[in-house]
Amino acid sequence: MSRYTDAVCKLCRREQQKLFLKGDKCYTKCMLEKRPGIPGMAKPQRGKPSAFSIRLREKQKLRRMVQMNERPFERKVVEASKAREASGDHLLRALELRLDNIIKRMGVSTSLKTARQLVKHGHVKIGGKQVNIPSYPVKAGEVISLSQKLKENVGVKLSLETAKKLNNRPSFIEFDETTLTAKVLRIPERAEMSFPINDQLIIEYYSR
Ligand code: SF4
Repeated sequence: MSRYTDAVCKLCRREQQKLFLKGDKCYTKCMLEKRPGIPGMAKPQRGKPSAFSIRLREKQKLRRMVQMNERPFERKVVEASKAREASGDHLLRALELRLDNIIKRMGVSTSLKTARQLVKHGHVKIGGKQVNIPSYPVKAGEVISLSQKLKENVGVKLSLETAKKLNNRPSFIEFDETTLTAKVLRIPERAEMSFPINDQLIIEYYSR
């Protein structure tokens, strides 16, 4: 499995959008604000981007936000296109309800990377059973609890402070900071999801 090892801020600069890949720094010292140009491109592109290029960029944006490799991402899109509801809605909901994303939205981590680490290192239980699969699909009504050791973790404390300042915890998650537990109350609405993208363009990219 290939792993991206270059500076993550280059990905935001390439997409010309904040993808929030670096945790707390994204809210304080964002590189996109300091160096807004596209990496490796001295002059801005001339002319209009093609229809293919618009769809490709939208797909790359979402894939980078959720930090997935091409193959599993494509599998998710194919799965969504077979769903009974609108493919875009199904895709975004499946990505929103991944366990790593829910941990991030609880506010105990400001980046998906650290949320994934918390899961992989065995700090997360669902309904009292340990789950160490970041892609686990969380269902409405499930209760997620974090290891009590994390109350003393500096990174978690900082993230909780940032979450308090940003006040952006979604209403479909009920979070109790004293016990580090959360309940997913319901399936999220489109407006509550974390991905500001045009899902239709992504579905069109894969239906070429
Ligand atoms: Fe992207 Fe965060 Fe880097 Fe800003 S600081 S460019 S949002 S990864």
